[in-house]
Amino acid sequence: MFEAVIAGSLPKPGWLAETQKLWPQWKAQGDELRQAKADATLLWIKAQEDAGLDIVGDGEQSRQHFVHGFLEQVEGIDFEHKVKMGIRDNRYDAMVPQVVSALKLKGRVHAFEAQLARAHTKKKLKFTLPGPMTIVDTVADRFYGDRQKMAMAFAELLNQEALALQADGVDIIQFDEPAFNVYMQDAADWGVKALERSAQGLTCTTAVHICYGYGIQANNDWKEKLGDQWRQYELVFPALAKSSINQVSLESYHSHVPPELMQLLEGKDVMVGVIDVASDVIETPEQVADTIGKALQFVPKNRLFPCTNCGLAPMSREVALKKLQALGAGAALARERYR
Ligand code: ZN
Repeated sequence: MFEAVIAGSLPKPGWLAETQKLWPQWKAQGDELRQAKADATLLWIKAQEDAGLDIVGDGEQSRQHFVHGFLEQVEGIDFEHKVKMGIRDNRYDAMVPQVVSALKLKGRVHAFEAQLARAHTKKKLKFTLPGPMTIVDTVADRFYGDRQKMAMAFAELLNQEALALQADGVDIIQFDEPAFNVYMQDAADWGVKALERSAQGLTCTTAVHICYGYGIQANNDWKEKLGDQWRQYELVFPALAKSSINQVSLESYHSHVPPELMQLLEGKDVMVGVIDVASDVIETPEQVADTIGKALQFVPKNRLFPCTNCGLAPMSREVALKKLQALGAGAALARERYR
């Protein structure tokens, strides 16, 4: 009951990459970089285990950014000529690569870190991939001319990698779809379909993470404008409830998401965000258990997974570590309280 887990990313140590940045530069190259990525992955697996989390991940230590890490292994994308593009409905600008021809995987994308993580933990292992709709929103299109068509092309590639990750021994494959909270109607109309295509044929647990973004200034400013009730999930959850995806991750603590929206996910496991990623203040175990208690009004005990609201990548390593500990301790307290 209440198996604790993180959304996905964790900060990169200062010897691996620049710190507290969304698109950090690596500090090494070639074999040296590969070794540094491996060291950071093992360090964070140990930290998650020590914090008492029940499901662990690689902390996304081997990818520069959660979307571009995947795109780097895709043929048909020009990384040499990045262009500036407003992403998430122009919420902020990013330098993005361009799709210039038909898409194809160059080979395996995450074999190294997935196999490494699998070899070094006996806990359940979750692995994250960007969702097709969010990829489409984080790359410039010079070839397909249609977002839905391009999303389905990416979904096929994601599916190929997801099936290989499953063969590596990954227990849960999660697709990250922050774009679902931005283009709600598109998400309901075709985003969920593209997501299901990405997960086609998987027999391991499948998940989707939908959030209000990393704790960066542009996102914090946007959230200020969303009003007292954040109802974005309301449009997408019914479509997800009908889908083949097993688990849904959402924001809760410190968000203005009405908790009753979780009712729309009947029949799904719900990863409830009990850790705020937009604040360096460390949650107490009591606060975490309280958030779990509120969610219990709408989610059955055996379907509730305490989680972080989003990834912790842009935070300081020290703060992230303490937040992991708060998550583990809060879940343990909730198991006592709500037995
Ligand atoms: Zn997120």
